[in-house]
Amino acid sequence: MVTHPISAFSGFSGRRARFEHDIADTATARELVVRLLRQAREEGLHDAPGLKQRLLQAGVDLDMPRLADARRFLDSDTPLDAKAVETGLTPDISRLILQVLDGDLAIRNFPVFKNRIANIYAHTEAAAGGAVASYIPELAKQDPNAFGLAVCSIDGQRMAMGQADTPFCLQSVVKPLNYALALALNGERYVHHHVGREPSGQGFNELALNRDNRPHNPMINSGAIMCSAMIRPGHPVDERFEMLMRFWNSAAGGQVCSFDEAVYRSEQATAERNFALTRLMDSHGVFPEGSQPERALDLYFRSCAISLDCRALSVVAATLANGGVCPLTGHRIAEPVAIRNTLSLMLTCGMYDFSGEFAFVVGLPAKSGVSGGLMLVVPGVCGIGLWSPPLDRLGNTVRGLEFSRRLVEAFPFHIFAGTTAGPA
Ligand code: GLN
Repeated sequence: MVTHPISAFSGFSGRRARFEHDIADTATARELVVRLLRQAREEGLHDAPGLKQRLLQAGVDLDMPRLADARRFLDSDTPLDAKAVETGLTPDISRLILQVLDGDLAIRNFPVFKNRIANIYAHTEAAAGGAVASYIPELAKQDPNAFGLAVCSIDGQRMAMGQADTPFCLQSVVKPLNYALALALNGERYVHHHVGREPSGQGFNELALNRDNRPHNPMINSGAIMCSAMIRPGHPVDERFEMLMRFWNSAAGGQVCSFDEAVYRSEQATAERNFALTRLMDSHGVFPEGSQPERALDLYFRSCAISLDCRALSVVAATLANGGVCPLTGHRIAEPVAIRNTLSLMLTCGMYDFSGEFAFVVGLPAKSGVSGGLMLVVPGVCGIGLWSPPLDRLGNTVRGLEFSRRLVEAFPFHIFAGTTAGPA
C-alpha cells in the first residue's frame, strides 16, 4: 500500500533548536516539578521506573551525559513526590521528561519513526552500483558491503542500523566543522575574506579558484585547506589538530574520535592535487598573513583521517541540527550564527557538483566524503550519520543518496516541505 508521506506522519515538534535558556525562560524549577507530578499522575505513573520506561519508549538515550545525575533516581524504585523529584532531577531533565509525557519530543512517535527508518534502510541496502575510492590507496581496502546508519534527535532520541559502530575516516565530512571552527576563532568577515561561499559547480579537487583567486567555498578541498590555515596559525600542527579533535569530540558528545594514521600517510603520499591547489593559492598570495600553507595542508590531511562511527556522526549532525548545542551533553560548541552559516554552505555546496541537484530533490544540509560517509542534518529535528563506501562518479556515496531520497519521501523533511503539505 502506498501512503501519502505527510498525511501519514505528522510527528515532529516545533523544528527549532533547544537552547540552554529554554527552561529558565518558561518556568521555575518548582513549577516544572509540579507540572511533572501532575502529568505523571494523570498518566498513571507513580514511581521512577514508570518514568524510565516512558523515556525508553520515546527512544531517549539513557546513557547520555545529560542524564548522568538523574540516573540514580531513574534507576531506583523511588515513588514520585515533590521532594524526590526535586532532588533527583535537574530542571533540564524535568523538562525533558515533561516533553516525553506531553508527546512533544523532536520525534513524537519514535517507534513508528524507527520502523520507517528500518524500512528505508532495508530498501537502500539493495541499491547497487558505485565503486570504492582508490585514489587514496588505503581507502581501497574498505569493504564495499559495509553499511551503517544512525539517527540522533535534538532531544537525544537515538537509533542505529547495520554497521553503525564501525569507525571510518571522515574525509570530506570533516569540512563543515573545519569551517565552523575557523568561524568560531576568526569571525565571519575574516574567514570570508579568504574563502568564498558560492558553489563551484566543479569537482571537489578541481584546480580552480574563483574570480578573486580564492577558493569557491569551504566544502571543497581548496576551501578546506584555507579554513585549516585559519585554525590557530603559528601554533604547532599537533596542537592545532588536537584542538580540532576536541571540537569534534564535543560535537559528538564524548571522546569518540580517533586518528587513522595509515589513511593520513597514504593520502599524504599521493596527494599531488592538494599540493598543487595549495601552491596555486599561495602563488596568488591569498593565504592569511603568517599562515604557513604547507602546515595548513598537513592539518587538512590529518583532519581527513579523523575516524568515528555512524552513531557518533549522527550526534555531530544533531548538534548542527540543534543550533550548536550537543543534545547529549547540553554543551554549546559554537555560536548559533556560525552553525547557521555552516548549514547554509552544506545546503548549497555540501555534495560536490551534485549540490544543486541534492538541494532540489532532498532539500537538506548534508556533507559527503570519499570514504562513503554522509552527514545529513534535519534542522530542529535530528541528525543522521551514514556510511557506505561505494561512490558514484562525482564522489558521493550511492546508498547515501538513495537513503536521502527515500527519507524525504517518507517524512516532511525537505526544507520546503511545508509549502507542499496540507494541515498536519
Ligand atoms: N582527503 C580527500 C582529498 O583531499 C577528501 C576528499 C573528499 O572526501 N571528497 O582528496
